[in-house]
Amino acid sequence: MKKAVISGVRQVELIDAPVPKPKEDWVLIKVHAVPLCTEYKGWLAGQPYGGHEAAGEVVEVPQPCSVQVGDRVVVMPQFPCGSCALCISGEYIHCQNNYDYQAFTGNEGDADTHVQYLVKPARLLVSILEGMSYELASLACCGLGPTFGALENLQITAFDTVLITGGGPVGLGGVVNAKYRGASVILTDPVPYRRDKAKELGADLVLDSQDPGVLPAIMDYTESLGVDAGLECAGAVEAQRLCIDAARTRGHIMLIGECSDPLPAEASSDFIRKGISLTGQWHYNFNGIPRIMEVIQNSPVVSQLISHVLPLRQMQEALEIDSQHQSAKIILKPWE
Ligand SMILES: [Zn+2]
Ligand SMILES: [Zn+2]
Repeated sequence: MKKAVISGVRQVELIDAPVPKPKEDWVLIKVHAVPLCTEYKGWLAGQPYGGHEAAGEVVEVPQPCSVQVGDRVVVMPQFPCGSCALCISGEYIHCQNNYDYQAFTGNEGDADTHVQYLVKPARLLVSILEGMSYELASLACCGLGPTFGALENLQITAFDTVLITGGGPVGLGGVVNAKYRGASVILTDPVPYRRDKAKELGADLVLDSQDPGVLPAIMDYTESLGVDAGLECAGAVEAQRLCIDAARTRGHIMLIGECSDPLPAEASSDFIRKGISLTGQWHYNFNGIPRIMEVIQNSPVVSQLISHVLPLRQMQEALEIDSQHQSAKIILKPWE
């Protein structure tokens, strides 16, 4: 099979790799859609990056399990144990007993999803609704997933105003999710392409995050109250601080963008006196699957979240576009 690997600084190679073997309830999937996530960071640094998003068709099932040959499925990330308290409660993304892919399957190579075939435990496969394309269904990974989880946890509705900092694919997915719930949405980003895309997806107010007037504009929009919720999708200290400053008293912030710098916050003024809550959101609870599929099925704008569909062999070009922030979600097709 073909497999795309990051082989150096700004380099992708299409190589031949053996088709992985399924085992027990880990089934073989013919991959039809591979959404790009943050691969471009590995590409810019010349470091291998294991893709983790995919949708495809089940083609081999070693033993009877929850899926059958011919099923169309979305692949959820990682290899959680499936039996610990976190897994059973649906919070499998936080499982502390992830399988060692190579040790369990005996397959050589890694579990990268930039491939034509992959194996996954059946319990991590989500059925694609009839008539829904692989490309759209694959948005149930990181395109819509993290912000869906955040909005579910905060129970955001049409009564709420949500600030989304960062208009990359995840933040733009947040616009789709928040508009589906009827919330008012403010998005901030320095890149014009992303701001335009946010508008196209229905954001009510779109601001340049580098404009010093961004906080006053948000306070103006909320009649000096501040926003009910902030979804921080930029992974930057300035954006974290903007979420804290723009939050209403007793507002909520979800950190979604990865960042290793210290938090720019104070216990007294921000958390105790203002009473905001702040937590992290990685993926979403598995029990939310039917609802995220409903967003994909019914959102009038969700298809616009996909800005490019390219063959896997053009991953180099896809990463050029992605690294220049001139895209929303990019999806690669391994068989074209
Ligand atoms: Zn991802
Ligand atoms: Zn587990």
